[in-house]
Amino acid sequence: MRALRRFTVRAQLPAPLAPLQTLATNLRWSWHPPTQDLFAGLDHDAWERAGHDPVRLLGEISTSRLGELAKDADAVVTVRELADDLESYLTEPRWYQLEREEDPTLPAAVGYFSMEFGVSEVLPNYSGGLGVLAGDHLKAASDLGVPLIAVGLLYRSGYFRQSLSLDGWQLEHYPVLDPQGLPLQLLADADGTPVLVEVVMPGERVLKARVWQATVGRVPLLLLDSDIEENEPDLRGVTDRLYGGDQDQRIRQEILVGIGGVRAVRAFCAVTGHPTPEVFHTNEGHAGYLGLERIRELQVDDGLSFDEAVAAVRAGTVFTTHTPVPAGIDRFPVEMVRHYFSAGATDGSTAAARTDSALLPGVPLDRILALGAEESQGMFNMAHMGLRLAQRANGVSRLHGQVSREMFGRLWSGFDAEEVPIGSVTNGVHGHTWEAREVTALIGGPDDEAVAAAVPDESLWALRSTLRARLVAEVRRRVREAWLQRGASTPELSWTDHIFDPDVLTVGFARRVPTYKRLTLMLRDKDRLRDLLLDPARPVQLVVAGKSHPADDGGKALIQEIVQFADDPAVRHRIVFLPDYDMSMARYLYWGCDVWLNNPLRPLEACGTSGMKSALNGGLNLSIRDGWWDELYDGANGWAIPTADGIDDPVKRDDLEANALYELLATQVAPAFYDRVDGIPSRWVELVRHTLTTLRPQVQATRMVHEYVEDWYAPAARAATRVNADSFGPARELAAYRRRLDKAWPHVQVIGVDASGLPDTPEVGAPMTVRAAVDLGGLSPEDVTVQAVVGRVGDTDDLADTVTVAMEHVGAADGHGDRFESVVKLPHAGLTGYTVRVLPAHPLLASSAELGKVVLAG
Ligand SMILES: *Cc1c(COP(=O)(O)O)cnc(C)c1O
Repeated sequence: MRALRRFTVRAQLPAPLAPLQTLATNLRWSWHPPTQDLFAGLDHDAWERAGHDPVRLLGEISTSRLGELAKDADAVVTVRELADDLESYLTEPRWYQLEREEDPTLPAAVGYFSMEFGVSEVLPNYSGGLGVLAGDHLKAASDLGVPLIAVGLLYRSGYFRQSLSLDGWQLEHYPVLDPQGLPLQLLADADGTPVLVEVVMPGERVLKARVWQATVGRVPLLLLDSDIEENEPDLRGVTDRLYGGDQDQRIRQEILVGIGGVRAVRAFCAVTGHPTPEVFHTNEGHAGYLGLERIRELQVDDGLSFDEAVAAVRAGTVFTTHTPVPAGIDRFPVEMVRHYFSAGATDGSTAAARTDSALLPGVPLDRILALGAEESQGMFNMAHMGLRLAQRANGVSRLHGQVSREMFGRLWSGFDAEEVPIGSVTNGVHGHTWEAREVTALIGGPDDEAVAAAVPDESLWALRSTLRARLVAEVRRRVREAWLQRGASTPELSWTDHIFDPDVLTVGFARRVPTYKRLTLMLRDKDRLRDLLLDPARPVQLVVAGKSHPADDGGKALIQEIVQFADDPAVRHRIVFLPDYDMSMARYLYWGCDVWLNNPLRPLEACGTSGMKSALNGGLNLSIRDGWWDELYDGANGWAIPTADGIDDPVKRDDLEANALYELLATQVAPAFYDRVDGIPSRWVELVRHTLTTLRPQVQATRMVHEYVEDWYAPAARAATRVNADSFGPARELAAYRRRLDKAWPHVQVIGVDASGLPDTPEVGAPMTVRAAVDLGGLSPEDVTVQAVVGRVGDTDDLADTVTVAMEHVGAADGHGDRFESVVKLPHAGLTGYTVRVLPAHPLLASSAELGKVVLAG
């Protein structure tokens, strides 16, 4: 008989074991080995049956075993000690609390919004790098005591699970998750009634969602779930899958996570007394509607106009863009946005209601649409809205910051790319999550540089060999599983016990399969790859994994190509494709691979984090210099595959880069691994040691979260406090300034530039006086900054390596306008040019480029 419905009943724990409930539901166990050991030790078989999931484990352990444990004094003491340890982790002052004593302007709380969160495989609510990064961000914030409130959606089926058909085609499965069986708690108000968040949908309908709370150490993660009886059937499905539906599904999800998400945060703070966020961190455009809800709040609750509310919201918002791939940017047809945001306005409504957004009453629809405008009319661009609603924006590696400044430069036309106000914070990874416990045991934490430096070569090599052997066992297990799923039977599979070799150089390549990551670059010259795999003296073994988006048949064809290559009995002991890449598999790969391969089309990898996780364990990166590797490769921590990114012909480019990859493997990587003295590859061990001592500290997520706190959250909190002071007086003033600016700007003009101040013998350092007359179009001199810009010029008159100097207002010009003047020291030898420009100036702006306004002389 098949069950009609399924649900999970939670176990009743005997009193002495009651703290297990908290230890199982707070996800801190996932990066705390002693707690993992406790669960494993309660009942080893049940732990295996439960797939190393503590919540499931508590349902698997028999009542009699629980009874035994409750009488086992040692077990009870361990439970109590670990519960106490967790309690102090959750309550003791950590880095942030100490910082905040010194600097009370640090925000009381920060809202962190993302469409996906990969905290642990027991909560499969992510598809790839973006989600896992968000998970690592929360964990590092927890370790540092940073008061985040995270917000996302709970997907009924998460992302898909991947298996393979017999001929290597990706198959997708969508197992249904029961929230009761997950480490989640329903957010309820004081009398136990579940909180319901509502957003208005077209057709006078209301989308409702309950709010599940996951607890990531000290950080609450609120996940909205539309699958409740209060919703009409099609609206129940809004949160059914991550990246699964059509555009309608997608915009509903984004409305729910953004607008519903802010409402969930308000409810959470009201119920728990948690401080409310002073700063909101939008990750990718997806959650950008959160800014609109905050505008609505300010308009309705505080009587601000739209423009004044924008000024207040911008100050406290940080926007992070996570991809330079245009297809990765969310865009909706303007008509669709109009349809959703005018929801609720009926024919009988007043004129005001018709132009307002009824999803967001009071917020003018035309202003919403303007926030997402892009050059091609007809599309609403979520990243553009993100940038327009955030005073601070960043990319996720130094190179990605640069690429983003170019990519979004049109929003700041008139400015050179380097002046576009988008910075960068290089991503990091959570050490306690991704580092094998043996690494920490041998060399201590990332700051114990001296310990790692002093560990003998033999021990370091033994560590690497242990981790590789564990991966080999896992590869054999998974390949066998995969073949059983593909339809093979046990007697045919004895060969899988002998694939891979714990002593062979092991290379890993695992990631999602969008085109730019070039999964099949390694297959460019199949004979050459075969030679590398089968080299009698210096063989290489290659483990590959990754999911293709279900709608991307091109990606699935690439997977099939790899699978069919790896199915060949001649090489199947040296190359495998492991289906269903997820956090539980990833861990073994990062621990055990000697080399982590990455060959994206530069510069399309925003950061990449898998190579960082490998480096935590002494893996060496072999990668195109893209994303993080562009800034952290130092010549002695791995290898850089030379990129041919100037070459436009993609076939030629792939050939060149594949060739370089084979060359490096054959002539550099394999020799370093196989050249041994007394059994130890000393050159290799040196590379590993260098990676562990210098790279490991730099790739930590705590380093990343530090940077976010100091350079982004704290300035945003200060800016928000400033504009919100005196009943939003400064926000009103800033909005009035922008209005004045908008009106005057078309009339602002540099009337004349006087170069009579050029020195007689211009040499480097000589002073040059620049004088300009400017028509301020009705603005006052304090409303602007007038700058002299001096730099090199080439064949064109484009200025490079510029120096800018603010010019002083020295009075009215003859006739009309104002005179400005400054003395500039000539910065460079050679052909030099200069110009004068006018920019907005206001103490509440973060940069003079912020508003995208500039008037150039001439
Ligand atoms: C780290 C990680 C990723 C992201 O890896 P990239 O190098 O950014 O592609 C994807 N999936 C899982 C399971 C991960 O752990």
